Amino acid sequence: MKNYLTASISASAVRHNIEVLRSLTGPDVKLCAVVKDDCFGHGMDVLFPVLSKLVDGFAVASPIEALQLRNKGYKGFILCFLSAYFDDFEVQDDLVWHRITQTVMSRSALASIQAAADRVGDTALVHLKVDTGMGRLGVPARQAPDMIKAINEAPDVLLTGIYTHFATADDANREEVSLQLERFRSILPPDSGLVLHAANSAATIDFPQTHFNMVRPGIAIYGCHPSEHLENRLPLHPCMTVKAKLIAVKHVQQGSRCGYGLTHSFDRDGRVGVVPIGYGDGYFRNLSGKAVVRINGLNATVCGRVSMDQMTVDVTDIPDAAVGNEVEVISADPAAPNSVENLARLAGTIPYEITCHLGHNIRHELVD
Ligand SMILES: *Cc1c(COP(=O)(O)O)cnc(C)c1O
Repeated sequence: MKNYLTASISASAVRHNIEVLRSLTGPDVKLCAVVKDDCFGHGMDVLFPVLSKLVDGFAVASPIEALQLRNKGYKGFILCFLSAYFDDFEVQDDLVWHRITQTVMSRSALASIQAAADRVGDTALVHLKVDTGMGRLGVPARQAPDMIKAINEAPDVLLTGIYTHFATADDANREEVSLQLERFRSILPPDSGLVLHAANSAATIDFPQTHFNMVRPGIAIYGCHPSEHLENRLPLHPCMTVKAKLIAVKHVQQGSRCGYGLTHSFDRDGRVGVVPIGYGDGYFRNLSGKAVVRINGLNATVCGRVSMDQMTVDVTDIPDAAVGNEVEVISADPAAPNSVENLARLAGTIPYEITCHLGHNIRHELVD
């Protein structure tokens, strides 16, 4: 943890994004916030008090994340996408004991969950995950009816929901989502009273017919669009600003070079600043020479290669740049050249990867 790197997380932006999503689903659809990987790198510790008041439940990837949420005192619905490890009885028991809703995605998962419920002497709550075409976790759609029967026959396992996940909801081509949706509908028992859910952020935004009675948005809550084709569709507000401070500034002469490999050479006399963030902090190395940071409201290009814990920026055109000045590494303004979405484009990746990588070595603070 580097306490001179700060991710300021805006509570009002998160509130706004949830309002925007709720305006799409209407009041009768539950909103389950996906908070895996420390809220996609935005920091569970700071966001939990904000989110827990606004959403109808949480979804996480791993059992440990689910148990950590319970340990924060959250008493509501928690869905865990991944199973406890097959031989990790302690975690399997904890999930039952803490009334985490577990995912059944195979016969063996069901057997482990039933065994844990038996050991604990309580009922295990589960949602069935159906693979309707994503080809990842889930029971193949044609086996879903048998699986529903098997769960209903397991004495200590209570089926409370059924869900699926779309492979292409963020794509402009709408065909695959329609096919997956059709397969999902075809296996749903009539009037079951179960929680049915399918929509990630992209489907919540672009496919209202996928909302059922709960949606599972992640990235949109944090203010990024799930894909370029959905940008500008909704007025989402990115909630994260990442700041550092200039730790050195020095003059350089025309022709001098900087960084590993000496890849950058200055084409005029100028000044270079050193910012204490690098790829070890999740700042992508392939942004070298491409991205900018902002100092005193002006752009400074990342020049030379990004190192593990520092990088150099060209401050020749920011004459008053000095040691101690604030460096805005990530801007919450989606139009800024150093927004998450623009950095993702430059790095050849998606906004999710940018925020997740930045989250692990940084101090999160809640603002507004
Ligand atoms: C990560 C995830 C989500 C959230 O996806 P976003 O694109 O961030 O909205 C929803 N459902 C499942 C199963 C996921 O793994």
